[in-house]
Amino acid sequence: MEKRINVIGAGLAGVEATHYLVSHGFTVHLYEKRPKQMTPAHHTGLFGELVCSNSLKSSSLENACGLLKAEMRLMDSLTMRIATETSVPSGQALSVDRDLFAEKITNEIKSNPHVVLHEEDVTKIPEGITIIATGPLTSEPLVMEITSIAGENTMGFFDASSPIVEKESIDFSKAYFKSRYEQGDSSYINCAMDQAEYEHFYKELIAAQTAEIHSFDAEYFEGCMPVEVMAKRGEATLRYGPLKPIGLRQTIDDHPYAVVQLRQDNVAGSLYNIVGFQTNLTYAEQRRVFGLIPGLEHASYVRYGLMHRNTYVKAPKVLEPTLQMKKRSSVIIAGQLSGVEGYVESAATGILAGINAARLYDKKEPVIAPLNTILGALTNYITRCVPENFAPMNANFGILYGATKKNRDKTADDALKAIKEWWVKIHE
Ligand SMILES: Cc1cc2nc3c(=O)[nH]c(=O)nc-3n(C[C@H](O)[C@H](O)[C@H](O)COP(=O)(O)OP(=O)(O)OC[C@H]3O[C@@H](n4cnc5c(N)ncnc54)[C@H](O)[C@@H]3O)c2cc1C
Repeated sequence: MEKRINVIGAGLAGVEATHYLVSHGFTVHLYEKRPKQMTPAHHTGLFGELVCSNSLKSSSLENACGLLKAEMRLMDSLTMRIATETSVPSGQALSVDRDLFAEKITNEIKSNPHVVLHEEDVTKIPEGITIIATGPLTSEPLVMEITSIAGENTMGFFDASSPIVEKESIDFSKAYFKSRYEQGDSSYINCAMDQAEYEHFYKELIAAQTAEIHSFDAEYFEGCMPVEVMAKRGEATLRYGPLKPIGLRQTIDDHPYAVVQLRQDNVAGSLYNIVGFQTNLTYAEQRRVFGLIPGLEHASYVRYGLMHRNTYVKAPKVLEPTLQMKKRSSVIIAGQLSGVEGYVESAATGILAGINAARLYDKKEPVIAPLNTILGALTNYITRCVPENFAPMNANFGILYGATKKNRDKTADDALKAIKEWWVKIHE
């Protein structure tokens, strides 16, 4: 009898899930709407198409995305194997020939006799165990179907995130903890500016270089105000908005002209996001201009501010750490739609989705990856972080408990050992 599992979307997450399942005795009914119906960002009908950069980021184990890639290789990752086969020189990064990469993936998946391809735009979730991996540009009817299960206010439709920085990189000889008018628990980090500092920052902000906006992003642009756009409305606008200084004096004699606030972003308190700083500045400009804020001169960014259309579920409300939907456990969400950010991160969650779909079918308990691995930390973060203001997350050491700059080698050794042992155990 056919052991059928449905996978919707043949992007990076969908092909990883499919590869896992067909390698473990399942038949995958794979639904993909391209090339019949294209998305605004994809250019081909190929599976695993990289829509923008051809870089899968660093290969170094000193880098969280590098470590995640190493973990994936220990989990028989299809995308990592083909990325190596199609790599192009790019220093410490893993970059690929994007056409070759997608072609090889497509050929491998399409030629597998256990893959049944349905070239269609799915509007209703099929019966049976189903992985939804339809990515940031999930078509509208399917979004509505997911919302009808998950409930109101469970989807994010636009990625206009503020940068997130590591607390240990903030200069606390300048920054200080305080909540406005002493209300609350003083959990905000404040970076105060005098008039000269503010004017300099303001001048650089409004002149800073912004990233290119795709035409399909521009429709959303007005409704979601980047800090640099707000600033252009007038020199005082930010001081009456996110940089309002009142109630935030450090001492009774202080009279800050503007104050930038940072809000705790993870339960461990190692990451902080810059409040109201959703931005479309290039990454280099974010480092340069936000580095003019006293206390953030040497800030280390685990995620830069970003603006593009990005449909994702608000994972802490919608998903279990196993990536199953809380309200329909036979449906598993993977990839960018699950609330992770990035090619590699999306592909990695596809592997976990494949594992858990197989376990569900075999009536075994679904699993989570060990928490001292990047995959485990990432799925733990997206499903267990503070639900308010949830924004997608990429691989970084800030979400891995106990990881510091000084213990990177040990962190990587432990993570790889943990993945190896876990992989053996779940396949016993
Ligand atoms: C404009 C843009 C630029 C980006 N640039 C980068 C970058 O430079 N680096 C980076 O790491 N990440 C980038 N990302 C994020 C990137 O999309 C994801 O990291 C990655 O592609 C997500 O993988 P995925 O498998 O979740 O989704 P995708 O790779 O998008 O795959 C989803 C698949 O589902 C299909 N699909 C959608 N809806 C349906 C449906 N209803 N029925 C059937 N099929 C459907 C789509 O056609 C697609 O093939 C970018 C995203 C966007 C939108």
